[in-house]
Amino acid sequence: MNQTRLHLIETLPKTELHLHIEGTLMPEMMFALARKNGVALPYASVAEVAAAYAFDDLQSFLNLYYEGMAVLQHRQDFYDLTMAYLQRMADEAVVHVEIFFDPQAHTRRGVSFETVIGGITDALKDGQARLGISYRLIMCFLRDLGEAEALATWQAAQPFLALIDGVGLDSAEVGHPPEAFQAVYQMALDAGLKTVAHAGEEGPPEYIWNALNDLKVSRIDHGVRALEDPELVAHLVHTQVPLTVCPLSNIKLRVFDDMGQHNLKSLLEAGVCVTINSDDPAYFGGYLVENFVQTADALGLSDAQVVQLVKNGFVASDLPDAEKAGYLQRIDALAAQVV
Ligand SMILES: [Zn+2]
Repeated sequence: MNQTRLHLIETLPKTELHLHIEGTLMPEMMFALARKNGVALPYASVAEVAAAYAFDDLQSFLNLYYEGMAVLQHRQDFYDLTMAYLQRMADEAVVHVEIFFDPQAHTRRGVSFETVIGGITDALKDGQARLGISYRLIMCFLRDLGEAEALATWQAAQPFLALIDGVGLDSAEVGHPPEAFQAVYQMALDAGLKTVAHAGEEGPPEYIWNALNDLKVSRIDHGVRALEDPELVAHLVHTQVPLTVCPLSNIKLRVFDDMGQHNLKSLLEAGVCVTINSDDPAYFGGYLVENFVQTADALGLSDAQVVQLVKNGFVASDLPDAEKAGYLQRIDALAAQVV
């Protein structure tokens, strides 16, 4: 990649809209926390952890993901995890993040809801004050645990609703369609929260339709399989419901064979509001800038397309319209200087 292009990607203000905070647990921090908290890990070294990060599909990743987060025990651990991510984002000129957390992955191993959300939100507040990164927090339900568990999680979240901006749906997709979560999503909508859902990563286009129609989502997380259904693509173009695409994740989890096969450029050129995000960067080999760089290189994106993807990140965000407009103007002005 030439220096001008790299400079453009590195310096334009950016957002991240699809990021699981537990997926930012780097091997070094995993080891440090395991030592501190007396948690046994099935790895002898950081190098051994890194070597284990060769996945066949979503499930093979999820097994390691849930195993690794057992080292997160105390409020300070969640704070340190979140702050490390925010510091990294400040270095990458990210100015706004909308991050996921998975309360069930912690409460089911005896860590309280308050410990989890307390540590994460303390760091988000400090990140806003010290690093100037605005944020939203999205609580995800683990879809493979079913709706009864999701409803129990919704109940557990009630004392903390002021800290939560939206709900999402993640974990093993196939066999766990969105429509099964209609009741709990309706409760979230009635409480004034935004809704999003992972759909069309490994699951079929029908899952995307059902997330739109039954869960009233304002964004689809992943959604790359939309391209298999022309009627769905037309609908996404018409409504401009955004897709939060995660290119490196899609390659690591074999949704596409290699980056050159990724359909992000096709979705973009069809007129869908696609954005670039990192999903679980500690596991998938790169944070936000790296996702932009590898995607732009492999797909031969033009400078204008790179700028469009950056702008889409703001358009697709939950920021107020006036703030969005300010960022979009700034991006155009900065891009005009560089390109
Ligand atoms: Zn995800």
